[in-house]
Amino acid sequence: MNNQNGFLSIESKNIFSILKKWLYTEQDIVFRELISNASDAIEKLSSLQEDEACLSPSKGTIRVTLDTEDNRLIISDNGIGMTADEVDRFINQIAFSGAAEFINQHSNEETRSIIGHFGVGFYSAFMLGDHVAIESKSCKEGTEPVRWDCNADMSYEMKQGSRTEHGTDVIIYLNLDSPYLKKPALIHDIIKKYFIFLKSEIYLNAPEFDNTLVNDPSPIWKKPQSEINTDDMHDFYKAYYDDVSDPLFWIKIESIDLGLKGILYFRDTKNGTEELDGKIRVYNRGVYVGENIKELIPKFVNLQSGIIECEDLPLVVSRSTIRDENEKDLTALIYECLSQEVTIAMNSMFENKRSDYEAYWPQLNAFVKYGIMQDRIFASVMTRKVVFEDLYGNHLTIAEYLDQIKASHENTVYYASDALEQAHYIEIFKKCGLNALLFDHVIDQPFMRRQELVHQKVGFIRIDSNIESLFEGTLSPDDTPYVDALTEKIRASLGERIANMQLKITNLEQESITSLIINDEKGRRMADMLEIYGFLKSTDTHLREKQAQSTYLVNLNNDTVKYILETEDETQSALVINQLFDLALMSQGTLSLEHMESFITRSETILSKIAQAG
Ligand code: ADP
Repeated sequence: MNNQNGFLSIESKNIFSILKKWLYTEQDIVFRELISNASDAIEKLSSLQEDEACLSPSKGTIRVTLDTEDNRLIISDNGIGMTADEVDRFINQIAFSGAAEFINQHSNEETRSIIGHFGVGFYSAFMLGDHVAIESKSCKEGTEPVRWDCNADMSYEMKQGSRTEHGTDVIIYLNLDSPYLKKPALIHDIIKKYFIFLKSEIYLNAPEFDNTLVNDPSPIWKKPQSEINTDDMHDFYKAYYDDVSDPLFWIKIESIDLGLKGILYFRDTKNGTEELDGKIRVYNRGVYVGENIKELIPKFVNLQSGIIECEDLPLVVSRSTIRDENEKDLTALIYECLSQEVTIAMNSMFENKRSDYEAYWPQLNAFVKYGIMQDRIFASVMTRKVVFEDLYGNHLTIAEYLDQIKASHENTVYYASDALEQAHYIEIFKKCGLNALLFDHVIDQPFMRRQELVHQKVGFIRIDSNIESLFEGTLSPDDTPYVDALTEKIRASLGERIANMQLKITNLEQESITSLIINDEKGRRMADMLEIYGFLKSTDTHLREKQAQSTYLVNLNNDTVKYILETEDETQSALVINQLFDLALMSQGTLSLEHMESFITRSETILSKIAQAG
């Protein structure tokens, strides 16, 4: 061939200055662009081989070599290759003008995507060196190899090349301060990050790396479910996510229409004690696009970890860089498809594998509830499939709970928000054969408010609130003098302390219940709200009581209460009344520090009285 010399077009100056600007921040781009080109060249060749039976199929291989003696980085492929004419057309005559216009019109942030978008990816090589060469041989029979050399002053030379096999080498004569010369492992990490699932094998030759296969061209998650061995899948998950625990389970995602494939791992959050902070990585034909891309992945799905691969996705996905309606449609369809696939999987686990669903529930709890609050598709199916643990360790949906308790308190769901704080009430519920659901996760309060909208006829009442109807008790006309006498004694002994409360005296069937404080659900929620917004301190027990509109319920059918009525020793009865009242406040978690002091002193007095009597 005849040698050819020339200069690249004048507009390319713009591009070079931009490439230089990124020099120290975005060097990954070079590898991303050049290895993508190599992979494209291999794919082009294999589609040619499919079309033309005469060409013998070859395995696609990309070799990345760091030659530290001559300070060169070489990216080689055995793809389609280029003739001299093609190098002239594809490399020399580049459409820089469109790119220059784009830069003028868009912000700095947006121009980051320019490289991939305007077919100037190859020129990113100049970010690493001022001299770049191509050695290429086309796969077309009888064509000559070509060598192209270009310097940062944009002068180029084309001459006879030395490649004997089809394919292309891109040779970058590295700047001496290149970080890769000092730390070759950086190259390994970049290939792993961007090309781990590329179909062609990528080998690295560099100090510390001896022809090392860096990527995983046929990863286990792409295999059909029937061919997946659980242990191998767990090993893959742990290595890929650098996690020490196996995943709980996984869901395969596939849409042939959208060219979408993927896998979603449900992480072991150690019974919900570990944070759900998913990582979903997106790939386009094996090339990494990004992580946790909000345009593509519903927020709740992103609580889990996974891999999504889509053939037609642009290499840069974000609202500002989605260029046409087709791309916008595709991202919306993928988003919807992910919601649907997760919904189908969760629903089928609830319907067909209820015991698994319940066993995983502590870990799925927040995920499912967040999904319902956040995603329309997921909510439409899963809202009625949320389960809650009840006081006896079973898992029930709201409908199942209501069905079970129909006779005792129709359409009221009693719940405990803190099993420890409300332990006393839980005990009482159990003693009386009643049931309640545990709403003890932070997400339960906002979730409950949503459930109230869905189940309009259902009221949610905390286990220490509005439970009078459960403890209605019985009173005969004969009890009236006792009720009056007891009311007087209690009001006299407690004075101000009970001034804001209603006092209810009745005969409860359960003799062991002495007294109870019952709040009003609405008032209590208001007090909780005031506390959240800082208008009420948790230590303001007096104000809280006032807000919560509490009732003090005293069981006439209890021996201690009977003793108060019968004793004529006023000091003694005042002692018992105060002690019982403090115990009731304490079991509700609202005994103030000030009263705690007197409670302790009083307890000591009672103990010494017992000792003296003994
Ligand atoms: P893009 O890849 O976006 O088209 P590039 O500037 O990276 O833009 O490459 C320009 C063209 O050069 C490619 O479209 C391709 O035809 C050709 N080319 C680049 N690298 C290779 C390669 N390794 N093998 C064969 N052709 C290549």
